[in-house]
Amino acid sequence: MTDTLETPVLEDGGAPEGGAAPKRLFIKTYGCQMNVYDSERMADVLRPLGYAPTDTPEGADFVILNTCHIREKAAEKVYSELGKLRQMKDEKAAAGQGGMTIAVAGCVAQAEGEEIMKRQPAVDLVVGPQAYHQLPELLTRTARARGERIGADFAPNEKFDALPATRGTEGVTAFLTVQEGCDKFCTFCVVPYTRGAEWSRPVAAVLDEARALADRGVREITLLGQNVNAYDGEGPDGKPFTLAKLAYALADIPGIERIRYTTSHPNDMSDDLIAAHGDLDALMPYLHLPVQSGSDRILRLMNRKHGRQKYFDLIDRIREARPDMALSGDFIVGFPGETDRDFEDTMDLVRRVNYASAFSFMYSPRPGTPAATMAVQVPDDVAKTRLHALQALLTEQQVAFNQSLAGRVLPVLFEKKGRHGAQAIGRSPYLQSVHVGDADHLIGRSVPIEIISGQQNSLTGRLIQTN
Ligand code: SF4
Repeated sequence: MTDTLETPVLEDGGAPEGGAAPKRLFIKTYGCQMNVYDSERMADVLRPLGYAPTDTPEGADFVILNTCHIREKAAEKVYSELGKLRQMKDEKAAAGQGGMTIAVAGCVAQAEGEEIMKRQPAVDLVVGPQAYHQLPELLTRTARARGERIGADFAPNEKFDALPATRGTEGVTAFLTVQEGCDKFCTFCVVPYTRGAEWSRPVAAVLDEARALADRGVREITLLGQNVNAYDGEGPDGKPFTLAKLAYALADIPGIERIRYTTSHPNDMSDDLIAAHGDLDALMPYLHLPVQSGSDRILRLMNRKHGRQKYFDLIDRIREARPDMALSGDFIVGFPGETDRDFEDTMDLVRRVNYASAFSFMYSPRPGTPAATMAVQVPDDVAKTRLHALQALLTEQQVAFNQSLAGRVLPVLFEKKGRHGAQAIGRSPYLQSVHVGDADHLIGRSVPIEIISGQQNSLTGRLIQTN
């Protein structure tokens, strides 16, 4: 999961036919990379209607809040943002500058659509994640009468078939959604309720989109899915295709040099996927594999459907296949009923696995999930103390991992200019940002770089060749 991202999604919002001035589209994206991807697709589908992206809501003709339900107080944040937008909308109308259509999209829209329409009259449209391809039609209908709400009435394939592929993508890295939804029903999580059942895009559609990305200069693709390693798409012969097979097929596309995928569930780390990490160079040695807790008792209460030993065994097998694999995870502390002993089990698991990076959060109840009604909630101050201890350990491991790379030569894929002179910033195979001086002529290329030092969140390197 990422923090809020404001999304100036496209670089070339073309003017509408007939030469009229482009209409301004502002999309604010909350939450995970899948939402970032969806925002780009929404901008793409609106482009033919003359909407060009803008990076501020002031004066925008169409504002979309693409919401996320994972974080604490997600709905409250949306309502607070809507309050500000309502004021802007009123001011714009009062100044005679035309209307502002306001839409709420994403998981909060899916979960609380009717409530949103009731509580905030400035909202014109609520649209759930499976209906983004309907935005042009919905907009037209909204212009006639406020109050459209489209939820999960569409199958995911209808959405993907109808959305234009990756037109707004720029740069050398791109996300590509291959799977949506989740059947796991972890007791703390809203995703199975907001995104629906697991569904995989057909292989041909994924490969077409990847080829289009490669043609635009993309060299690294991150495959997205709520349970991406549960990918089970229909192959060319109509038979099921695993994520490992998909990775091999993607690696054959000229131009695609790097493949990543996120987020994975331990129970879906299949043998062929682990083996692929051992013999497919394009599959990067970085794996985000959330475990959430190191306590068997808490894992059971979370309905994670595996224990700590199974996770350890899995990590051993992955490291056997790919010894330099950098591991990342997600942790929740203060889950209902978590004792000091349970928390110690989490600390012990972290020490044993040794993460290169990780995300950790304090548990907060999500309405409608089983954990929200569990009897023994952990007091905030206890959870906070545990979170600090866990984060200190994870930071120590992350710094140690980054520093351990000093002196190594790593392939760095350069993505953009840095802040200082001709500095450029790229990514290592382990996903850290790498800052290199006099390298801006290398943007778009993967080049061996000598790592000089490792900091908490990035590496510093220098060129060992300049051609
Ligand atoms: S696996 Fe669990 S945490 Fe992940 S999306 Fe599914 S229900 Fe949520």
